[in-house]
Amino acid sequence: MANLFFDISFHEEDVRTLIKNNNEWFVKLRYYAVVLLLCSLLGAMALLRLSSFQVYSILIISCAILVYNILISKILKNYTASQKNINCVKISLVQIILDLFQLFLIIYITGGIESPLFIFFVFHIIIGSILLPAGIIVIIAICVCGMISALGFFEYSGLIKHQHIEGLLQGNLYDRWEFLVVYLIVFYIMVFVSIYLTNKIARQLFKRERELKNAMRRIEEAEKSKQKYVTGIIHELKTPIAAIQSMLDLVILKYTGPVSPEAEEKLIRAKKRGDEAIRIINDILKISKLKLLNKIGLEKVNLNELISEILENQKASCELKNIKAEYKNKSEITKSVTGDRLLLELAFSNLIGNSVKYTPDGGKILISLEDFNAGFRIDISDNGIGIPQKDIDSVFNEFFRASNLRNRKIEGTGMGLSVVKEIVSRHGGTINVKSPSGIGNERNPGSSFIIFLPGSFS
Ligand code: ADP
Repeated sequence: MANLFFDISFHEEDVRTLIKNNNEWFVKLRYYAVVLLLCSLLGAMALLRLSSFQVYSILIISCAILVYNILISKILKNYTASQKNINCVKISLVQIILDLFQLFLIIYITGGIESPLFIFFVFHIIIGSILLPAGIIVIIAICVCGMISALGFFEYSGLIKHQHIEGLLQGNLYDRWEFLVVYLIVFYIMVFVSIYLTNKIARQLFKRERELKNAMRRIEEAEKSKQKYVTGIIHELKTPIAAIQSMLDLVILKYTGPVSPEAEEKLIRAKKRGDEAIRIINDILKISKLKLLNKIGLEKVNLNELISEILENQKASCELKNIKAEYKNKSEITKSVTGDRLLLELAFSNLIGNSVKYTPDGGKILISLEDFNAGFRIDISDNGIGIPQKDIDSVFNEFFRASNLRNRKIEGTGMGLSVVKEIVSRHGGTINVKSPSGIGNERNPGSSFIIFLPGSFS
């Protein structure tokens, strides 16, 4: 029989993750089950004739379920809070055994093998087959079948009192041995076929999931080697362009002789385009390196200091455009982000630089830093040109530039925000954008970039 079921070691890790995620869900489900049980009791009291033993027993069982459910939920919460590696399989096993025991009692109270609640065993068996090793669920199923058979036999032979529900059936079924035998055989078949089918389906699903994960890993590896190749080529492109730039410099600076004003103007334009090409190459190299390097530095970074420094560096650009940059540090306690200072500086100077770049003369930029339990919230808002709604979801894509830039001569490569997003997610954070920003107006709606970064006390 054991060969019918798959070996848990085949996908132990996957099963553990599944069990961990489902334990809390079962606790919630059990509260609903108690409500359902009490509602059914009320319904049965109205439509049928329950004995006071039946009513009180169901009430006591409901209380017992509530009590152990609260205990289990406390245990799960304590383990989550202390971040200990909880043995999820054991907790699941305890839950399933307790539930089966309660169900067994309810079935006895509601008529033994005459009880319509018999079918609920199948739910437990199916859930157990997904979550528990096949060997354990088979042992549980054998125990359940044994207990049910014993219950049927003891009631039949009069060793225990049968609890009949008045008004449900005309006459008795529990005292007919033919009914008992057929009923139990059908029950055994149903239990073991359910285990076999559920295990088979679960095994196939886990196998697929594993294949999918392997395929993802292979795609990532292929992407990395492609990235390395592209990075190499792009790096090589930089050398000839830099050489052209220095030749142009020689001519523009007239070291090679006089140059006509028309030629000089064309050469300066060519030099500008060359600078732009080098900037694009540098951006591509930055993002490629970031993607290739899986590790980031792990130092304590004080975000307040970092943002203040970046603002100081951007002061000249703000003054040039008469932009008022305001910074509100609302973080009261000393907390820091653990991460790579250089990368975080790159991300924030990119965002603040963008605000300066996309805000017209006389505009304003508002930066705020707040801390909350799990980390920091940084808001960089401006009253600049904003981002059209249809482009909002694409701004973090590589090389994307919003459609409202078409008639504006604002230089850029569309690479910055993809680098920023990569850096933020490498630090376990998230970044979102909205436009209008809330500090803009109809003509210049502005944009807000909101970043969440996990932090810890320094
Ligand atoms: P770029 O080099 O074009 O600035 P980014 O990746 O930094 O590239 O930004 C992508 C696009 O997002 C920009 O081209 C611009 O359309 C839009 N964008 C980014 N920041 C702002 C901002 N503060 N205000 C308006 N638009 C912005």
